[in-house]
Amino acid sequence: MDLQRITDDIVAKVAPIVGQYPPADYIPGLKAIDPSQFGIAVATVNGEVYGAGNWTTPFSIQSISKVFTLALVLAADGEDLWRRVFREPSGNAFNSLLQLEHEAGIPRNPFINAGALVITDRLHTLTGNASSTVRDLLRAESGSTVDPDPNIAASEAAHGHRNAALAHLLSSYGNLDNPVETVLHEYIQHCALTMNCRDLAVSARFLASNGRDANGHMVLSASHAKRVNALMLTCGLYDAAGEFAYRVGLPAKSGVGGGILAIVPGKCAISVWSPGLGKSGNSVAGVAALDEFTNRTGWSIF
Ligand code: GLN
Repeated sequence: MDLQRITDDIVAKVAPIVGQYPPADYIPGLKAIDPSQFGIAVATVNGEVYGAGNWTTPFSIQSISKVFTLALVLAADGEDLWRRVFREPSGNAFNSLLQLEHEAGIPRNPFINAGALVITDRLHTLTGNASSTVRDLLRAESGSTVDPDPNIAASEAAHGHRNAALAHLLSSYGNLDNPVETVLHEYIQHCALTMNCRDLAVSARFLASNGRDANGHMVLSASHAKRVNALMLTCGLYDAAGEFAYRVGLPAKSGVGGGILAIVPGKCAISVWSPGLGKSGNSVAGVAALDEFTNRTGWSIF
């Protein structure tokens, strides 16, 4: 399999749609990013890395950070975690308030914002600093400098009324242990972490290899890695998860910065990035690129 050639071809294939869709506008710092960029990186379980396009340009990982917060809390708490969060797709927008009151403060899954706030709260209780724990995991796994972008964090904090509403609602149901302000701060900080496609794909390689990274270090048990992949498949692209499974057929997690991380169990982690989003908040060129990748390689779980 000539993965370098495939990634090069994908850059050419998606070029006509790159720049045709708008970036996220509800976080002003993201709206300012040039939408005419696209990158792809593939990190194989054997330790090889391939990339093309803007694959070394840093971007805001946003909700992709939720894969790593979930991995950390699952490793620490195991099944106890599921007393506070469900494991079902929501069918609603990632920042919807509707279901949360209806279901008495238990979020549908760990990837919608309400669920991710609960996971961040738990990680903060476990470690004393949720966002730097995620940052340190990503630094260790990528071998690169990883930091939050202070402008993106400030921009989200200034416009974060919806997440604040979710956090207050969670707190009113007794589903946050830490103060609302602390949880929001930690959540915004890990969403604002900046990485490039290469570093993100390398950092997530453990999800493709039964929880072990390229150095043989066990980040997650094989069973927990399988569960994180299952949740990515069913909930990772929010209310477009069904359509994504139909088109691509891989566990994946998107972020409103335009990144998507996808896992081919047993083979590789793939990271794509292009800022233009569709209506569910997923990168349009990113989805098209992963569609093309699975067509070209035949690597899909179905
Ligand atoms: N920080 C963003 C928010 O809370 C993350 C959303 C996303 O990437 N889907 O709205």
